[in-house]
Amino acid sequence: MKPIVIVGAGQAGSALAAKLRALGSEAPIRLVGAEPVPPYQRPPLSKKYLLGEVERERLYLRPESFYEDAGIELVTDTRVKALDANTLAVAFEDGASIACSAIALCTGAEPIRLPEAVGGTLGGVFTMRSLSDADALVPAFRAGARVLIVGGGYIGLEAAAVAASRGLEVTLVEMAPRILARVACAETAAWFKALHESHGVEIREGVGLRALVGDGTVRSAILSDGTELPVDLVVVGIGVRPETALAEAAGLAIENGIRVDAFGRTSEPGIFAAGDCASFPWNGGRIRLESVPNAIEQAEAVAATIMGVGAAYVARPWFWSDQYDVKLQIAGLNSGHDAVIVRPGDKPGSVSHWYFAGPRLLAVDAMNDPRAYMTAKRMIEAGQSPMPSAVANPAVPLKSLPTADALLTEQP
Ligand SMILES: Cc1cc2nc3c(=O)[nH]c(=O)nc-3n(C[C@H](O)[C@H](O)[C@H](O)COP(=O)(O)OP(=O)(O)OC[C@H]3O[C@@H](n4cnc5c(N)ncnc54)[C@H](O)[C@@H]3O)c2cc1C
Repeated sequence: MKPIVIVGAGQAGSALAAKLRALGSEAPIRLVGAEPVPPYQRPPLSKKYLLGEVERERLYLRPESFYEDAGIELVTDTRVKALDANTLAVAFEDGASIACSAIALCTGAEPIRLPEAVGGTLGGVFTMRSLSDADALVPAFRAGARVLIVGGGYIGLEAAAVAASRGLEVTLVEMAPRILARVACAETAAWFKALHESHGVEIREGVGLRALVGDGTVRSAILSDGTELPVDLVVVGIGVRPETALAEAAGLAIENGIRVDAFGRTSEPGIFAAGDCASFPWNGGRIRLESVPNAIEQAEAVAATIMGVGAAYVARPWFWSDQYDVKLQIAGLNSGHDAVIVRPGDKPGSVSHWYFAGPRLLAVDAMNDPRAYMTAKRMIEAGQSPMPSAVANPAVPLKSLPTADALLTEQP
């Protein structure tokens, strides 16, 4: 029996393999990953692992014995070099190749790096994607060191929070007019900016990086406003690109990631994709999500497709971020919103920002407010929308927020 080969032993690859077995697959399964470690969770890399509060083994998604017991052949430290979409085969760097009954691409994403011409390859310049990236960064996070964080997205902000908590001198530059510009409203961005500033982080918005300067190791950063900033290390968090090289070379359709249909099927029969590398149908268009819940749920949907019991994957986006003692929880996707309602929470320091498109609730950002998050998530997933005026009024309890529909039916 030819094996099902899963390329990429990350969050999606590991979930896909486990789900195949849970659905009763008796095929040989080979889970091939380029990294030298078993599948692990990435979120703690920029949070508790960087803070030194989590042991390395605790990051592993499943104990190594799981794969053995489930008859999943986990092959680490091995990169798949090429796919043949016609013969359904994968080839390895040592020249070996194997014929497969199905191939699932779970290749994730690659961090965007600063080019060599602006000093991106100097010592002391770090990215934040893999366990080895985090392992390299931990010893550089010494109290008193001066760190420049490039990029004010969630990864950059989380790294800034850890650095400040560990006593580093932190400057964060964001080229766009404000932090979180791609992912959150101005209210959420301002809230996090104030949080970081209260911990001594200097946030410079509308300021880019012109070049890093050093003699082998970075010594200073020249910013777009001409300032030269002495630095000991730099963390680059300027986004990722979906890892599509294998798929592209094999002639698969690419559209902001490997193009899949609602069942996770690529443009070539027998080849599937899931997780950060895949773009899928969403609201009449396409979307690619970079989140743990999506990686798991889409991978499980692909496993069901391979087993012939698939249903169209309907994403229910949610996400989180931890910074200092703040837990941010996000439900839904805010694209297309035209209003944001701010709702104070019932404890000091808790607040939620509700995104509406007309009367329709799209998403929520809840800061230390799990009840607001849960309420909004339930409503979004049920296709319900609360009255914005009730959301804005903290005297109206979350559990009795009137929905727009309810109000309409109550009209005389
Ligand atoms: C620092 C950090 C913090 C994050 N925080 C959060 C968070 O708080 N909440 C949240 O929801 N999400 C978070 N994410 C995002 C989340 O971790 C990703 O969305 C998730 O890991 C995607 O899973 P994946 O399996 O698609 O990709 P990955 O987990 O990246 O796995 C892909 C794997 O494929 C391997 N691979 C690629 N090409 C090949 C090849 N040719 N041959 C063999 N192997 C290959 C890669 O080496 C990698 O190990 C965070 C990510 C990072 C980096």
